[in-house]
Amino acid sequence: MYSLYDIKENIVSFVNESEKELVNDFSCIESIYEKNQLKVLKAFRDLKISESHFQESTGYGYSDIGRDTIEEVYAHIFHTEDALVRQQIVSGTHAISLVLFALTRPGDKILSITGLPYDTILSTIGTNNEKSSLKEYNIDFDYVNLKNNEFDKDSIKSKLSANTKLIMIQRSRGYSDRKALSIRQIEEIVKFIKSIKPDAVIMVDNCYGEFVDEKEPTDVGADIMCGSLIKNPGGSLVKAGAYIAGRKDLIELCSYRLTAPGIGKEVGINFNQNRTILHGLYLAPQIVANALKIVKLFAKTYNKFNIDTIPNQNEELNDIVLSIKLGDADKLKRFCEAIQSTSPIDSFVKPVENDMPGYDSKVIMAAGNFISGASLELSCDAPLRPPYMVYMQGGITYYQGKLALMKTIQNLGLI
Ligand SMILES: *Cc1c(COP(=O)(O)O)cnc(C)c1O
Repeated sequence: MYSLYDIKENIVSFVNESEKELVNDFSCIESIYEKNQLKVLKAFRDLKISESHFQESTGYGYSDIGRDTIEEVYAHIFHTEDALVRQQIVSGTHAISLVLFALTRPGDKILSITGLPYDTILSTIGTNNEKSSLKEYNIDFDYVNLKNNEFDKDSIKSKLSANTKLIMIQRSRGYSDRKALSIRQIEEIVKFIKSIKPDAVIMVDNCYGEFVDEKEPTDVGADIMCGSLIKNPGGSLVKAGAYIAGRKDLIELCSYRLTAPGIGKEVGINFNQNRTILHGLYLAPQIVANALKIVKLFAKTYNKFNIDTIPNQNEELNDIVLSIKLGDADKLKRFCEAIQSTSPIDSFVKPVENDMPGYDSKVIMAAGNFISGASLELSCDAPLRPPYMVYMQGGITYYQGKLALMKTIQNLGLI
């Protein structure tokens, strides 16, 4: 079948060979998928999900049984007291910003212990004195970098002060070149911080992390976490929205910030997305497993060409992102063209680099998506600057990922 895509025979056998060598890695991924699928199904059974939860509500959305039960399902799966799963939270960035604003007051300090957070959060913090930022409300921010991909306990300890209200942990690496954090690392640092400052709220940006492990940050002591529904937990079906899960008192504060004090979770409709949110969540463990297999297959194969990847073929996966150090601008373009041409949507389109807000160089991207911007679907982007790294993520069907890999090898002339 690969000849239908003009892939050369020797490339097919090369990739088949990599795939065979990944039997053990794939079976580890399958085993996590198995546990997560059973965990999700259990929540659906325990909460007696039925067709009645698919009904659409209008107006204020009082007593929307679908919306309320979806939030119970999320809380059940993530083992938290409560959750918000809302269309009114428009993105992952919005969810994070909401948590930061809801849980701090003037004079409080936020400490990020995974270095500077994701680019889009910097405006929320107010690093460039943005209007309406936390800084404008006199909420202070500081950060501690990771040291060799581990938490820097000494620096963290020295920066914890009486007014440190909230500790931020970003599990995935975003567009940095560090590794994603494991649940074990998060567990250890949460214990460490709680032993020094038990009243600090620990929040985790869990974007790209859901269902990658059998545990989530809230299983190992994080007080609150959040993520985007057009990434992992939306299972590639949900059109928009984000979630926040955690302690009941904290979720209440977030809900008051989202709508209005006193009203909180009682209002807000899901624009006929209830069925899709449940359907996507039900499929999410399987789709995340597909994405992880694709990442593994790319890492394994590119490492064979002595091309560096983060993580490399032997390292554990803690998110669904792979960066590949291609080395020059022309290679980035050829790589992106291959990904685009093997996508189900807009396969005939040729990606071109362009300026992007927030970047100091041109960026080239490939995404042939059903849901615009959904990076659980196979997609990649690359700023055209040294070290000429492409960031690739997702993939909702394994064999599209395998085909895309072959196409990149062919376009780059690696074989
Ligand atoms: C995607 C992402 C975000 C931001 O989410 P958006 O939905 O794009 O706003 C924040 N943090 C991490 C680690 C992410 O991967």
